[in-house]
Amino acid sequence: MIKLCTILAVLFSFTANVWGVDFIYKPASRMEIAVDLQKIEGGHLERFVKPYEIQRLSKNVYAVSTSLYIVTVVVGHHSVLLIDAPLGRGKNILQAIEKITSKPIRALVYSHSHKDHIGDAAVILKDNKHKIDILSTGEVYDEIIANKIKVLLPTKIVGHIIYFEGIKIKIGQNLNGHTVDNTSFVIRDGHRKILHVIDLVYADQLPFQAFALAHNVIKYQTDLKTLMELEWDVMVPGHGNLAYKADIKIMQDYIADTKAFVGIGFSQIKFEDFVKPGSPYVWFINYKDAIVDVAFKLLASKYREGNEEEFDALAKSHLEAIFWTMITR
Ligand SMILES: [Zn+2]
Repeated sequence: MIKLCTILAVLFSFTANVWGVDFIYKPASRMEIAVDLQKIEGGHLERFVKPYEIQRLSKNVYAVSTSLYIVTVVVGHHSVLLIDAPLGRGKNILQAIEKITSKPIRALVYSHSHKDHIGDAAVILKDNKHKIDILSTGEVYDEIIANKIKVLLPTKIVGHIIYFEGIKIKIGQNLNGHTVDNTSFVIRDGHRKILHVIDLVYADQLPFQAFALAHNVIKYQTDLKTLMELEWDVMVPGHGNLAYKADIKIMQDYIADTKAFVGIGFSQIKFEDFVKPGSPYVWFINYKDAIVDVAFKLLASKYREGNEEEFDALAKSHLEAIFWTMITR
């Protein structure tokens, strides 16, 4: 049987060179602060099999990457605040934090209600000798309740700002493309501003299937614009590598291309040609497939070379998501 890690490694083989952006790749360092456009060296296959990697982002803030996930660690005067606890990664995150500091974790923040990003909260709490507050916005709390998500419930609801032991964290609740409760955090540490936002930006890789099952692809684009307008220096995007505004521009260009190419498909393919004896549901699916095929060829001419396996695994799901969005508008 092909192992899941093998499949995922194939899916995440994208490199930055394809996009022609001059990112700086260096081995992860918990001592040296990453400069602008610096990312962690190594592809997704290497990252997937490592227990964790630590990259310092400012005097007191670190990114911890563990297999497919990346979280933020804020070290205060007395204790640690952690943003997100991805399912199955809690032990690795605890080990990484021990390498950073001996201070205890006292706060765990949820970025949104998806269990894959917060499902190991119990592992983080169990291992700690001190009480840990679980912080989230009211939106996240409500989504957990409404969708009966099996995670530990937040113990404190936060508003627009968290002051954590001298470090100011600005909270944004205006993101709705991935989920309605997706939250942005801008952590100000000295002159550095670190943005933590999950599942909207994919650094060095194509977006997950169907734009990570985006709740609303149109609002997804609005969210990217919102992130562009926010003031920040480096982003922890939840998956893959560190991200910068150049990565958001790459995402915006990719979505604009998928929309333009699906638009060409709509202009070339006529629904009437698919009306044949038999089920109208099949007519409709065949019509969609014909449009996606036109768009896929156009998108492939721009994005496939050198990334064939990843492109073939994911691109059609993006085009289909755009098709369903465009046909209803
Ligand atoms: Zn999510």
